Amino acid sequence: MFECLIKGRVVTPAGILHRGWIAVDGGRIAELGSGTSPQATTVVDYGEDYILPGVVDGQTHAGSQIGFPGIGPTTKAALIGGVTSIVDMPYDEPDPITTGQLLADKAAAIGQYAVCDVALYGTVPADPNRDDVEALIAGGVCAFKISSFEAHPHRFPRIGSGATRALIEMLDGSGLPLGLHNEDQEIVRRLAAEFKADGRTGPEHHSPSRPEVAELSATATFLALGDGLSTPLHIVHISTPKGFDITRWFRDGGQKATAEMCVHYLHFDADVDMPRLGGLLKVNPPIRGSAKEALWQVLERGDCTFVSSDHSAWPIERKTNASIFDVAAGMPGLEALLPVFFSDAASRYGQDRAAELSAEWLADRPAKFFGLGRKGRLAPGMDADFVVLKPEPYTYQSTDNPDGPGWSAYDGETFAARTVATWVRGTQASDGAIIVAEAGSGRYVRRG
Ligand SMILES: [Zn+2]
Repeated sequence: MFECLIKGRVVTPAGILHRGWIAVDGGRIAELGSGTSPQATTVVDYGEDYILPGVVDGQTHAGSQIGFPGIGPTTKAALIGGVTSIVDMPYDEPDPITTGQLLADKAAAIGQYAVCDVALYGTVPADPNRDDVEALIAGGVCAFKISSFEAHPHRFPRIGSGATRALIEMLDGSGLPLGLHNEDQEIVRRLAAEFKADGRTGPEHHSPSRPEVAELSATATFLALGDGLSTPLHIVHISTPKGFDITRWFRDGGQKATAEMCVHYLHFDADVDMPRLGGLLKVNPPIRGSAKEALWQVLERGDCTFVSSDHSAWPIERKTNASIFDVAAGMPGLEALLPVFFSDAASRYGQDRAAELSAEWLADRPAKFFGLGRKGRLAPGMDADFVVLKPEPYTYQSTDNPDGPGWSAYDGETFAARTVATWVRGTQASDGAIIVAEAGSGRYVRRG
């Protein structure tokens, strides 16, 4: 007799189990199958709805505005979107996660605020220190992140080539990936000054002022800095196919080079959507014009590692400034990640295939990449983290979430499916709108 039995169209790595079931015991998946099911104390039947592994969002920014308390609203947005684990970036207010003590403080804050599980990136100051790097590894970070562009002098500094190479050496042999925010500082700063001097400050000037070459040169330089070492190097977002080509070139040469896609690059077209959405759509690197078709082909070729949201829930006041150069970069995406990816994939490949691709690109691949052992797949022994996706159209409104920022670039769009339940470690945490999980029920997930 199992504790709980969940029924529906179960999406496993081996395919979809129609009339499928998952038996849950002690927060883990005990067995799964199709047809005749075992006995359980509680049975929840989701009929024809898809049951996918809980999404693992590999890129969120919970603490960049209000610090650790931002873990609360960020993880609530996650549950609404069917995300059961986030991998949070280290650029917190007021201090980035550069020491073992700061990491311990953030892990404690997860135990206070989180409603879903949270894995963490660590980072380094402009002059990295081996003891701090080792303390972060011992503390369970699942990756490190640095930037080739200074977004903030203390919180989000630029790490130069010498320091980057030193850090790659420190991480050599640890197996931990080093991620890069990939924009060349000199190119971006020079062009920003030129554009501002000319009064070219509208939304349409965002992409040309941070051109593809700024991204490509930073990507290539960073990957070249790993020459001869085994440290996995990871580009956290690439906006055009050429960046993925560069990454593949290094990979073909024997280096561990990987590249991540954010869902907004697959969904939006700057030529069409930037005039409509303006600063709301400002992210860095920018969304490009007419790139998304080729980016879906990158996915089809398997040349990207996984797909993430890069969720950053700035207040609307930071997204509506007159000059695009004064608008904060980043947008909320946790609630929309799965419905958008599923919808766009379904229009290309059909709903069953979209469900399988969602499980692969949004859960299995990121969980493996970050070494989150019991996350990302529906299989015996794994954590019982699920999202139930009802394949019927609905119109998304960010204002439905009282804990969100009240805006989204996806507002008013009709998706092909919506999340109707999110389960974390065998307990229902949300019905896709209302959060029932308590603050602090989320856990810190260490690598390994
Ligand atoms: Zn990011």
